[in-house]
Amino acid sequence: MDEFGIIAKYFAPLAGDGAFGLKDDAARLPSRQGHELIVTTDTISEGTDFFAFDPADMVAQKALRVNLSDLAAKGAEPAGYLLNLTLPPTITEDWLAAFASGLGRDQKEFCISLLGGDTSAGERPLSIAITAFGFVPQGKMVKRSGARPGDAVYVTGTIGDSGGGLAIFKREKHALSDSDRDYLTGRYRVPQPPVSFAPELRAIAHAGVDVSDGLIADLGHLASASGVHIVVEGAQVPLSAPLRALWGEDALLRAAAAGDDYQIAFTAEPGLSGPFSRIGQVTTGHGVNLLVDGRIVVLPNAGYRHF
Ligand code: ADP
Ligand code: MG
Repeated sequence: MDEFGIIAKYFAPLAGDGAFGLKDDAARLPSRQGHELIVTTDTISEGTDFFAFDPADMVAQKALRVNLSDLAAKGAEPAGYLLNLTLPPTITEDWLAAFASGLGRDQKEFCISLLGGDTSAGERPLSIAITAFGFVPQGKMVKRSGARPGDAVYVTGTIGDSGGGLAIFKREKHALSDSDRDYLTGRYRVPQPPVSFAPELRAIAHAGVDVSDGLIADLGHLASASGVHIVVEGAQVPLSAPLRALWGEDALLRAAAAGDDYQIAFTAEPGLSGPFSRIGQVTTGHGVNLLVDGRIVVLPNAGYRHF
């Protein structure tokens, strides 16, 4: 099947409003009264962000969701996305069909639709690039730069699950139940970005960041953009029971440095409660300290870096 056959059969059914059935040169994204357009892009690659043996529908979900977490961290609601694929000759139609069905499921779950993209032929490793668009009310984008001394630091969800799943795929020894193992590997394959939290986030957050490189590393980005110091209280970092079962006493330090969480860390007034945990505070200074039993811990590997 050629490029046009693939587009017509697998991607045109996913096309949304303004995409003209993927039969035009470009799409039109209608502006939204009183809103600003938020744009983000992320690429996932076989061997780095997913495995060649991962189910294609989950690969598609991960490709989309790593972008949705960026939109959510900015307080934006998803609207549309572009999909750029360079397909190796070994990709089958079954793979494409499963890939498209994973996108279709997530489009419904997260209220986003396909606007267009590009399809070409290439070699392995497969990489999938998505550019996503969302809207925030005028002036309400949550930036990395708004943290101020006196803020509390919060995070959604749990930290490190995906890193635990990756360790299992890399054959780290464990004695987990099947359900704990599946929970962790599932978090690696299909991130759970808190997309529906975006409206609440932009109502309360002074600053926010998508946790993708690792909790401490990403808080470091926020601290440096805001010109503040952050103290993370290790004991408050939310860890799942399966991750504690996998990593035991090492769970906190490994989780704090692991990447691929796709949760949101943010700063806001102290004393808030909601679908998030308070993990620390903002003070004057620079950088991030992780406190464990009252002592500052330096992480050997503070986050994921390419190159
Ligand atoms: P052009 O040659 O003008 O770049 P293409 O043939 O690449 O146009 O694309 C034709 C249409 O199909 C466009 O609307 C484009 O956005 C869409 N398209 C191509 N590849 C993809 C894809 N992987 N996912 C979604 N839409 C795609
Ligand atoms: Mg093209």
